[in-house]
Amino acid sequence: MDIHEYQAKELLARFGVPVPRGGLAYSPEQAAYRCTELGGTAWVVKAQIHSGGRGEAGGVSVCHSDREVQEAANHLFGQRLVTRQSAPRGKPVYRVYVEETVAIARELYFGTVLDRTTEKIIIITAAEGGMEIEELAASAPEAVQRSVVEPAVGFLDFQAREIAFGLGLPAELIAPAARLFRAAYRAFRDLDATMLEINPLALTKDGELVALDAKMSFDDNAMFRHQEISELRDRSQEDPRESHAADRGLAYVGLDGDIGCMINGAGLAMATMDMIKHAGGEPANFLDIGGGASPDRVLKAFRAVLHDDQVKVMLVNIFAGINRCDWVAEGIVAAYGELDVRIPVIVRLAGTNVEEGRRILRESGLPIITADTLADAAEKSVGALGMSLSA
Ligand code: GDP
Ligand code: MN
Repeated sequence: MDIHEYQAKELLARFGVPVPRGGLAYSPEQAAYRCTELGGTAWVVKAQIHSGGRGEAGGVSVCHSDREVQEAANHLFGQRLVTRQSAPRGKPVYRVYVEETVAIARELYFGTVLDRTTEKIIIITAAEGGMEIEELAASAPEAVQRSVVEPAVGFLDFQAREIAFGLGLPAELIAPAARLFRAAYRAFRDLDATMLEINPLALTKDGELVALDAKMSFDDNAMFRHQEISELRDRSQEDPRESHAADRGLAYVGLDGDIGCMINGAGLAMATMDMIKHAGGEPANFLDIGGGASPDRVLKAFRAVLHDDQVKVMLVNIFAGINRCDWVAEGIVAAYGELDVRIPVIVRLAGTNVEEGRRILRESGLPIITADTLADAAEKSVGALGMSLSA
């Protein structure tokens, strides 16, 4: 689960990370009012969306009067901001954050990620912040430092100081920097985050370190023990196809092609994506019905796949172990009864009760295209797509 910059800053501040003062606004008028509240003569207006790269997409502006703030906010509200990190349709702006400005002397990078492979936490820092870390790692790999934290031992003070020295900070800033890093680490650990990024971490002209931008993602499986964080969920920032499925307990991934896929198991889903691409097609999504899916669950899954109007052909690929092909077939037949299915549907069934499943499909009299193997199913889907597009 992702949260907004202003929310991440509020959480980090609670753990002792210095952040600029700011106020959230849901309207241009409220944004202008924040200037009076904050005081000062210049402010930064920042679009709150679940994506980085806002600066270069026009989502961050420095303003010098409350009128300018109001205009900048007015321009942002209701817009879909397309960044290099967002999907092509962008993310809608419903909140803006107004902050006091900071005079930047240097921009640094601080990030913390969970490395699932080594089961450790990696602290990534760079003396050149501001730009994306992936780019920096490609263009100047020597500028990126990695420090490994063993979670059972924790992030030790000497490691934090070593990082601060590595960033070339002046002697008087080593201790405050180490405190900041450890505070950020505690927030990451205590809140079950999977990613924390402070970019830029600014060294101000007054010689202070401030988190100018903050991004956090959390482990969905740990949200049951962080009620206050799960409440920060903002559905406006999610792919509506994915939230629709998640609300029904279905694992769904939205993609950009036109073949909708209903599959059991993530591994089979990956193999099916590959076969579709191999046959010259592009998947629109995949939905994992899981194990032991009832006809009703299959019907719901069918509805969720069709819910996406990018879908021009549907491929059902079930390799039943715990699942039952007859239940899947019953669900598909029920879907034709309840939904307005106008697109070609290709079904490949294998495994438990496959004969019964095939019989149900055959005797339904429905225009279902059946396939025997995964390759056959992928080819038939791409073939049906050609026909449905030219029709
Ligand atoms: P991102 O593009 O989504 O990562 O948004 P950021 O919050 O990182 O803002 C982009 C850039 O705007 C930063 O790298 C800074 O250079 C600049 N910026 C943000 N806040 C301030 C500020 O208070 N003062 C100044 N001078 N620049 C700022
Ligand atoms: Mn940033």
